[in-house]
Amino acid sequence: MKYYAIIVAGGKGNRMNLEVAKQFLELDGKPILMHTLEAFHKCVLNPELILVLNIHQHLFWEKLCTTHDFKIPHQVVKGGQERFDSVRNGLKAIKGKAIVAIHDAVRPLVSAELISQSYLMAEEKGNAITAIQPVDSVRIKREGQNSEALNRNELFMIQTPQTFQIEQLRKAYLQPYRNEFTDDASVVERAGFNINLLTGERNNIKITYPQDLELASFLLQKKGS
Ligand code: C5P
Repeated sequence: MKYYAIIVAGGKGNRMNLEVAKQFLELDGKPILMHTLEAFHKCVLNPELILVLNIHQHLFWEKLCTTHDFKIPHQVVKGGQERFDSVRNGLKAIKGKAIVAIHDAVRPLVSAELISQSYLMAEEKGNAITAIQPVDSVRIKREGQNSEALNRNELFMIQTPQTFQIEQLRKAYLQPYRNEFTDDASVVERAGFNINLLTGERNNIKITYPQDLELASFLLQKKGS
């Protein structure tokens, strides 16, 4: 079987209020995105790497690779308007039968072991979606109504990698875009497939706000030592 990883890095990262997109921010001496690609490169199943990047950032990325002497082989394809469009562009680069992991560029702390587990589970069951349970209590508040407690034992916070047999993705990504498609599981579910959850990792944080970068740096150093 052939294994691929589509690393989505097409977003602008508005929540950081920065000029430079967050996947390029330095984490312990090199861009976040390089740590993410390294995590997949370490996976024993040796996935082929496809990086989806906004077309205006391709040259910048090339220069960063030269500066940091970054040699991990990967193909760069152009990003789209929404995450959904970026994934669809990544899929076009894959021919034939495959197992495909889709991963947010801004989750550099994912372990190579979790990546392997997700490939093997998807190969067996069709897909594998990493998730962890909330530790906080959770409420839902609908417009014009009072808030209501939810049972946190029944809730899951979805991470990436989200890994699929490519047939599921090919069918799902023929659908037109919908606002509620915030991840790949929601797209594949809408196309009629059951979703299988795989226990994710607390350290697999999505770098979104400035303080996440400090936490990521701490976790990375702990991992290395
Ligand atoms: O903004 P959000 O948290 O949904 O982004 C999740 C991931 O999707 C990020 O890694 C981001 O770079 C990527 N993305 C993308 N193309 C877009 C928007 C987001 O690849 N148009």
